[in-house]
Amino acid sequence: MSDSLWGFSELSAGAGWVRLAAKGVSRRSSATAYLHEMPSDRLTLALNTTVIEILFDSRGNAEGVLTTRGAIRAPQVVVCLGALHSPLLMMRSGIGPGSHLRSFGIPVRADRDSVGENLQDHPLTGVTWSGKRSEATDQSHGWETAVFSSGEVSDEELDACVLFSTVPAPFADSTSNRLSQNSVAYTMAMYLCRPKSRGRVRLRTADPSAPPIVNAPLLNDPERADLSSMVRGIELIRRIAAQPAFSEWLGTEVEPGERVIGPELATFIARNVSTMFHPTSTCRMGQDDDAVVDEDFRVRGIGGVRIVDASVLPSIPTVPPYLSCVMFAERCAELMIRDSRLDDSHV
Ligand SMILES: Cc1cc2nc3c(=O)[nH]c(=O)nc-3n(C[C@H](O)[C@H](O)[C@H](O)COP(=O)(O)OP(=O)(O)OC[C@H]3O[C@@H](n4cnc5c(N)ncnc54)[C@H](O)[C@@H]3O)c2cc1C
Repeated sequence: MSDSLWGFSELSAGAGWVRLAAKGVSRRSSATAYLHEMPSDRLTLALNTTVIEILFDSRGNAEGVLTTRGAIRAPQVVVCLGALHSPLLMMRSGIGPGSHLRSFGIPVRADRDSVGENLQDHPLTGVTWSGKRSEATDQSHGWETAVFSSGEVSDEELDACVLFSTVPAPFADSTSNRLSQNSVAYTMAMYLCRPKSRGRVRLRTADPSAPPIVNAPLLNDPERADLSSMVRGIELIRRIAAQPAFSEWLGTEVEPGERVIGPELATFIARNVSTMFHPTSTCRMGQDDDAVVDEDFRVRGIGGVRIVDASVLPSIPTVPPYLSCVMFAERCAELMIRDSRLDDSHV
């Protein structure tokens, strides 16, 4: 997991500091926060091991997983391979779109069209300027402040997040080539908080080492609303950058370039849109029949399997998803402790 995770603790339109996963002045990842302090007699880690499929007993309840180092038996399986890989594990285990699984010779345990569907991500674009002066500190992690807007790029509340980078982060290769390594430059990037585009993840083959087929959820909504919102996002960035406070910092707009407006701006964004690397929602939680997991993270209709990661988010949060995943994991741990107490009381 990335060591540079950040997020926001309060959610309202306006400007503020980006919050970091840290204890005191030390950065924390989930591994350092949760695993490193676990007593070794309570935790066994199988490192450099790929999970191939979930194993089931004759009654159809999970009884462990098959991995590249053999079988691991367990009465409960908690799947947390992330939004791109959790649906693939489900599919390799026979839970997914029936005809897709049959095309790879995978026996169908539960025919679920929704597994791997509904892929969402935050699309990202931005503006880069040459800098008039360099930032004084080397203490910055690069993305320290952000603005959330409401109703500026779409009709939605909290519709865009503008991030201020103290290092250049251009989107087109041609701009990167033009900026010399030592040139002072700044980027303001923006992502759509509530994108309408949807994608999907599917198996390429039944081989767990094969990369999946990912239909990325970037600017593919039929109404092209996301593209229009991103054009308005660049216009919003330019309005912010025109404020007097930036005049001593920002020089010439090097990307997209101040003359790039209207249809040309839409073409620039469509060619250079990036992802925030926030894939979510491919094993969606919900109470309807199509939902993959219920509100206790249990895979519907399958005994002994929970999914606890970004794949269960019903829709992408407006903020980066790491904190939601941590919160899910803590909630799932509570539910598992509750379940084990209930089991004990029935003995
Ligand atoms: C470069 C980058 C920067 C990011 N920055 C931020 C940020 O600043 N703030 C924020 O909130 N979010 C950020 N994110 C997003 C955030 O990291 C994810 O949303 C979050 O980690 C998702 O957690 P997860 O548990 O769903 O999956 P992951 O954290 O991806 O964990 C899944 C794990 O499963 C493993 N795995 C997959 N398949 C298998 C298999 N078959 N067998 C065994 N193991 C397997 C993977 O190796 C991985 O370790 C960033 C993502 C990236 C890529």
